[in-house]
Amino acid sequence: MSRRQIERIVTPPAPHYVGDGFRVHHFIPGAVGLSMQRMDPFIMMDYNAPFYFSPSKQPRGVGVHPHRGFETVTLAYQGKVAHHDSSGGGGVIGEGDVQWMTAASGVLHKEYHEEQFSAEGGMFQMVQLWVNLPSADKMSPPKYQALEKKQFGRYLLDDVGSVVEVVAGAYKDAKGAASTFTPIHLLNVTLVDQASAEFEFPAHYTTAVVVLEGNIRINENKDVPANHFALLDHSGESFSVQGQGPAKVLVLSGEPIGEPIAAHGPFVMNTREELIQAFRDFENGEFGYLA
Ligand code: MN
Repeated sequence: MSRRQIERIVTPPAPHYVGDGFRVHHFIPGAVGLSMQRMDPFIMMDYNAPFYFSPSKQPRGVGVHPHRGFETVTLAYQGKVAHHDSSGGGGVIGEGDVQWMTAASGVLHKEYHEEQFSAEGGMFQMVQLWVNLPSADKMSPPKYQALEKKQFGRYLLDDVGSVVEVVAGAYKDAKGAASTFTPIHLLNVTLVDQASAEFEFPAHYTTAVVVLEGNIRINENKDVPANHFALLDHSGESFSVQGQGPAKVLVLSGEPIGEPIAAHGPFVMNTREELIQAFRDFENGEFGYLA
C-alpha cells in the first residue's frame, strides 16, 4: 500500500454571499487547482466557515432556484438550514445532519436559515457539495434523502471520543447512510487531542480533506490549518490525518465519472445542447412550481 501525497493545500478564497444567508468560501470550481474536471465527481463546493449571524426576524437564505443534472449535498455543522423543493421534499437540516437532494431531471428549491435559529442568531457552519451524475442518470426522477446524524455508521478510533462518522460509502466496517449513484465516500472525522486516522481509497479516486476545526497534519509531515482544503494526488491509496489538538475534518473520496462536463449556473450537463434544453425547460415551467 503506497502513500498518497498532497497535491496542494488551498487557502480559503475570500468569502462571498449566496443569497443573504450563506457566507461561503467557494473552493470548487475556481480555487487554484480545483476545476470541475480535476475534482470529478465533486463539481462544486461552498464552505461556510464558522460565522456569527445576528438575530433576524426574516430568515436569511436563498430564494427559489432550479437545479438539473446532479445532486446537492448539504452538511450542517452549526446552525440549522430549512429547505423546500418542488417535488414536495422539505424539512430542517439540524446540526450534524445531511440533506442529499438528487436534482437529476430538475427541481426548484429554496434554502434558508431555520426560523428559530434565525430569530435567536448564532454560529453557522456548513458545507454544500454538488455531486455529478453520470449521463445515464442525469434525467432520472428527483429524489431526496434526509439523513440524520444518528443514521450514520460510526467507527470509534479510540475510547475518548475520536470517531469516523460515515455519511456515504464506508470506513472499515462502518457503513454510510446515503445511497449514491457512483462510488463515493463522505466521512466526518472527529479527532480528540492528537488522535490520528488512516484512510485508504483506490488511487484513481478524487480525494480531499476539508479542515472544519483545529489544525491537522497529513502523512506526519504536512500541516493544514483550520478552514483550509487539502487535495490529495493519485500516487497511492493511503494517507493519515492527525489532529494537532482537537480537530474535525470532512474527508471526501469519489470515483471520477470521466464524462464531458457542460456547466452553467444551476445546470450541469454533458453537452451545450443539453444546457440550452435545461434553460428552455426551466423557462417553460417544466421544473414544477414552488412559492
Ligand atoms: Mn440550491
